[in-house]
Amino acid sequence: MREMQRRDFLGALGATLASSALAQQAPRYDILIQNGELRDPASQLRRKGDLAILDGRIAAIGGEIPAERGIDTIDARGLYVTPGLVDLHTHCYHAATGLGVEADPIAARSGVTTWVDAGSFGWDATEGFRRFIVRPQQARIFGFVYLYPSSRDPSVNPVEYVRRQMRQTGETAVANRDILLGVKFQVGSNMNGPYSLEFLKIARELCDRYHLPLMAHISFAPPETDQVMELMRPGDIVTHIYNHHTLGILDSAGKIKRSVLEARARGVWMDVGHGLGSFNFESARKALDAGFPPDSISTDIYNLNIHGPVYDLPTTLTKLLYLGMSFEDVLLRATANPARVVNRVPLMGTLQMGAPADVALLAMEEGSFQLIDSQKNTVTAKQRIVSRLTICRGKRLTAI
Ligand SMILES: [Zn+2]
Repeated sequence: MREMQRRDFLGALGATLASSALAQQAPRYDILIQNGELRDPASQLRRKGDLAILDGRIAAIGGEIPAERGIDTIDARGLYVTPGLVDLHTHCYHAATGLGVEADPIAARSGVTTWVDAGSFGWDATEGFRRFIVRPQQARIFGFVYLYPSSRDPSVNPVEYVRRQMRQTGETAVANRDILLGVKFQVGSNMNGPYSLEFLKIARELCDRYHLPLMAHISFAPPETDQVMELMRPGDIVTHIYNHHTLGILDSAGKIKRSVLEARARGVWMDVGHGLGSFNFESARKALDAGFPPDSISTDIYNLNIHGPVYDLPTTLTKLLYLGMSFEDVLLRATANPARVVNRVPLMGTLQMGAPADVALLAMEEGSFQLIDSQKNTVTAKQRIVSRLTICRGKRLTAI
């Protein structure tokens, strides 16, 4: 009897030692997020579960992971655990340009882990963009280089001036492919007067010659929408699609213009780009009613709209949610979809194993929330999306 007890005791001790040795061998995760509602539109992941991060990558996802396996354990009960948000149209060349906002503090409160600056700088300010914006920020930063539309020197013919920028703009974009995604150009009579179409043709020629995507901002005609769409190729991006101006995607009957439908059908990307003047509830509603959701939902955030009407990306997502899009549909257009356009970081915009650990913890708040569009139209929403925590490259971002 005594012998049996001794054996049991030794056996139990052995088992305990073996399991603790095993526990010591198993890696402890840098961050363990427990009990969250996992949502990854790219992989159609939609379940409650845990997610673990190790060495800047997603190391486990789905089931239950014991709390002691995490060095930093977060209880995400009641929160959506999603890929870090990707904002395809921002202005984040802060301090050096008047419009630029600083990415990291806003990233920390908004869940946006990837920022694409849409043309705050030309070819000659690209090195500064790399050194003073891309490198020091924790958030991932990319950009479209701006094709300067006009010279300050009145003795230089404007068209000739823009032509002269082609080579340097194209060569800069190619040489900085790791951070530059293409060329940005602003089309509209308010931006470059009677030369707008001529300039756009130069931008087209530049992008063809250097094999670069073109991001075209649309605002006021002329040129007409059909003339712009005709010059857009697969992989190009049209931004400000839900504006309320004369250069838009809707015809006078509220239907999507044929040239716009044809452009989308051949692979031209349609982006929101809210901005100070470019998002209108009525335009967005008509487009959505006509079966024309955006490919990406972006803010066009800058210093003049950060205190309204834009605020941040979750607010722009909330506006599309208010207009009837589902949470999953909205999320797809702020994660995997724009990540495809960035196309520089494998698996970015998803929550798959091995993907970079860019994660947002989002809450869906219930209540009564005022939403304002660019023309100051106000609606009241019953739900809003807010960010509770941003993790980028496996580290928490903290608001300053
Ligand atoms: Zn912009």
